[in-house]
Amino acid sequence: MNETNTQYGGRPSLPMQGVPQPKRDEVLGLPRVHISTHPVMAHKMTALRDKNTQPPEFYRLVKEIGMLLAYEATANLALEPVEIERRRLAGGIGVTPILRAGLGMAESFREVIPDVQIWHLGLRRDENTLQAMEYYNQLPHKVDLQVCYAVDPMLATGGSAIDAINILKRRGIPRLSYVGIIAAPYGLLKLSQTHPDIDIFVAALDESLNDRGYIMPGLGDAGDRQFGTF
Ligand code: URA
Repeated sequence: MNETNTQYGGRPSLPMQGVPQPKRDEVLGLPRVHISTHPVMAHKMTALRDKNTQPPEFYRLVKEIGMLLAYEATANLALEPVEIERRRLAGGIGVTPILRAGLGMAESFREVIPDVQIWHLGLRRDENTLQAMEYYNQLPHKVDLQVCYAVDPMLATGGSAIDAINILKRRGIPRLSYVGIIAAPYGLLKLSQTHPDIDIFVAALDESLNDRGYIMPGLGDAGDRQFGTF
């Protein structure tokens, strides 16, 4: 990413302008990266990407896609025996929505696993530098989880996802995953290289980032589209 956000004469430059980006093919085989191949997911993604999809429908689709992702991402959860022939989830399950766009997906996880703990984390990205800045943190002091899922629909430059995983790692959670809806090759590679020890689940892998750091073709601003703030 550019070191500076100003060009000669102090005019702001675009943060991803001229930054080399990997192609889709170069990130498809990354270890621990899971890109959904489910036809129902592809069907719902088409509706989500539609420019005419209005916020109430968009939010409903985010929740449904999030539930399908939650189902895929939790396929390897540990179980413990309860009685003969019975098992239950071993240890707590945490979900960290990166505010505010991750809120819909946190609800998806709650639908799939009603007793998840939801740990809110507010990270705002500076539109000039694309660096993530923490402004809200409701992570509890007592940690007793088998896994925590950081959720955010758009994996663009990877800055927020990397910071969120760093913050969660400092809490000593044994296993962490990132779950998103659309990834750009650039952010996917950055996240995978910075945190090779986590699983990454996404519904779709898009082509690239534009000069402003938005995913192309993408779907615009996932927060605005969920909450109607245009
Ligand atoms: N955040 C979004 O909401 N959309 C993008 O394309 C990138 C980041």
